[in-house]
Amino acid sequence: MKELLKELVRANTTAQSGELGAARIISDHFSRFGIESRIETWDENRGNVVARTNSSSPGAALLFACHLDVVGPGEGEWRYPPFSGHESDGRIHGRGSTDMKGGMAAIAGAICEVVASGVKLNGDIIFAALAGEETDSCGAKRFVRDHGQMSPLRGVVIPEPTDFEIVTAHRGMLWLDVTTRGTAAHGSTPELGINAISSMRAFLDELATYEIPFEPHKLLGRCSVSVNTISGGKTLNVVPDRCTVGIDIRTLPGQSHSGIIVGFQRILDRLKSADARFDAAVSTIREVGPLETDSGSAFVRDFCEAVGIQGTKAVGFTTDGPHLAALGAPVVIFGPGKPDICHKRDEYIEIADLKKAAEYYKKVIFRLLS
Ligand SMILES: [Zn+2]
Repeated sequence: MKELLKELVRANTTAQSGELGAARIISDHFSRFGIESRIETWDENRGNVVARTNSSSPGAALLFACHLDVVGPGEGEWRYPPFSGHESDGRIHGRGSTDMKGGMAAIAGAICEVVASGVKLNGDIIFAALAGEETDSCGAKRFVRDHGQMSPLRGVVIPEPTDFEIVTAHRGMLWLDVTTRGTAAHGSTPELGINAISSMRAFLDELATYEIPFEPHKLLGRCSVSVNTISGGKTLNVVPDRCTVGIDIRTLPGQSHSGIIVGFQRILDRLKSADARFDAAVSTIREVGPLETDSGSAFVRDFCEAVGIQGTKAVGFTTDGPHLAALGAPVVIFGPGKPDICHKRDEYIEIADLKKAAEYYKKVIFRLLS
């Protein structure tokens, strides 16, 4: 399992590199255990892997869904090179070791062990390793589109790093760009232009007192809004004709993303009616809905019993869960690794946690498919 993880880390799967290298590694690993898998490819280097055990029983299947891609190594020097899969101090180091190639190696290892043991299961295990979770969830969307008609599912398990907490909820994410447009002019004659940065200031002043309507959620708390990027102006002696801010909105179950966008559009319309020179547009960069699985559902109760952990939690990060919930089955997130080391320098995972995760997944498989 740790060798599989090392190989997966070495197969750099940032957005620039694509997922195909890691997809082949996972698919070859399943082949060695006689488990059929298919790599579904698109563009030059994108790919999902889907594997399925063949129980020849009519029971509903259990889906484990991982993501193949990782974020870039970021700024600064790593202690060990980020794509080396270096092993030391009982840890595997490298980008993706925790988020989430560790969980992926653990579930792949568990599935191969279960199949090799010859135990008869009442239902198939489906394994999906998906592309693009860190960017636009393109792999999850394809998977749901192409496999939405697959046999009924008992539930979906996402082996993202939760440090072995059972997660059933997270907020949604709506990333918006607001761009103000002006008219360029020489910096010495600003009265001849329309300054897009000044227009942006008017919008940001409005936003500072604007509240997106929401009902606080008992697990997820509040909806949040944060302006996290800004760009505008090219050179010091030209009145800027464009300014853009990026806004990160975290949403709650019950909130409509399109309703939020309409609210932003209304702010822009109000500013335009107050000043005809104001010109701006809002556009969506990325969105993922919120996830809320009923903690009292039979699937969640069985899952908790299988792993011997009571109580479910919410997390701050988002997953492919809301896309996969469209398959009509309850979704649980549970895996090895500490969520607070994701996306940071010197990411690593404890080898002991990989083994512990594989044991948990085997218990889940036996409990839910027997
Ligand atoms: Zn992840």
